[in-house]
Amino acid sequence: MKAAVIYEFGPADVLKIEDAAPPKPAGGEVLVRVHAVRVGGLLDIGTRAGRNPFARLAFPHILGADFAGEVVEVVEGVGGLKAGDRVAVSPFVACGKCPACQAGRDYGCPSAQLIGVHRPGSYAELVSVPAKVVRRIPDAVTYEQAAAMALSGPVAFTQFSVVGLKPGDWVLVTAAASGLGLVTSLVAKALGARVITTSRKDWKREMLQKRGFDAVLDTEDETFANQVGELTGGQGVAFAIDNTSSATMFTKVSAALGRLGVIVSSGAQVAEPVPLDLRSLYLKSQSIVGIRSHTQKALDGFWELAGNGLETLVDRTFPLDDVGDAHRYVEAEKNFGRVLLKID
Ligand SMILES: [Zn+2]
Repeated sequence: MKAAVIYEFGPADVLKIEDAAPPKPAGGEVLVRVHAVRVGGLLDIGTRAGRNPFARLAFPHILGADFAGEVVEVVEGVGGLKAGDRVAVSPFVACGKCPACQAGRDYGCPSAQLIGVHRPGSYAELVSVPAKVVRRIPDAVTYEQAAAMALSGPVAFTQFSVVGLKPGDWVLVTAAASGLGLVTSLVAKALGARVITTSRKDWKREMLQKRGFDAVLDTEDETFANQVGELTGGQGVAFAIDNTSSATMFTKVSAALGRLGVIVSSGAQVAEPVPLDLRSLYLKSQSIVGIRSHTQKALDGFWELAGNGLETLVDRTFPLDDVGDAHRYVEAEKNFGRVLLKID
């Protein structure tokens, strides 16, 4: 089978298109013919460049995390899936045994593995993956859309389930023009929330304006907190999803948060310490929660929701042969929406 293989960490040039041996599914696994793969910042490019702190891998290695494709073979003991099923695959494989997993809170699993990081990934015609991260996709969802939302959709669904989002609640999503931020905003909207999206770039805010959110704001505008106050009738937002972990952004998000409000972090792109005013936090009975990934339940819940017409933006697709160009394109931050590899 054709695959993109790396033999060392480094720039996009280390990706080599080769003929690799097709994988054999083990117990509890499903062999999937890959149709579309998301090209992501940390799991793909970070791992390739040797910057991913979670990466423990043996060379040669095949990258590729979240993807969509068609089931080819199911090993006995895997219920519910059969050859020919159109599926989406999340890369986050929780252990299923630890206290967090047993409590249905797999996002807290300390020994979770990532497809494309700890085990061979989906930059290939075929990949074998644990059945528990495979879900059938609704007929209306294309392989491209499924790959674009296969990880961030269930993560967003988990975030809103954990914090108890109700229709009508105000949600603030920072960096909403990023691939992850856009899916998070769309999931909040699909769950009936009123959604304030933000971006610091004019052209990205213009793109967000076309997506039907309740407001599109610039966090660098001095009147940002007042604008949120006006929109929410002086209450502030119920939930703020901030994956930037930037000190300046945290201050702005905190100022926009209402009483009993919750700040959710599912990423730390800037990863700097943030100033936290605990006095304000307790006086307003607010909280901060970290959610690393998703639950098993959210995989089911998200794909049911997606069947109702949830669609994100795919910026551009590249054939597998041009995987190096796809990496360079994402590294140059030229995209609004997802960048995908298409494998036929
Ligand atoms: Zn676990």
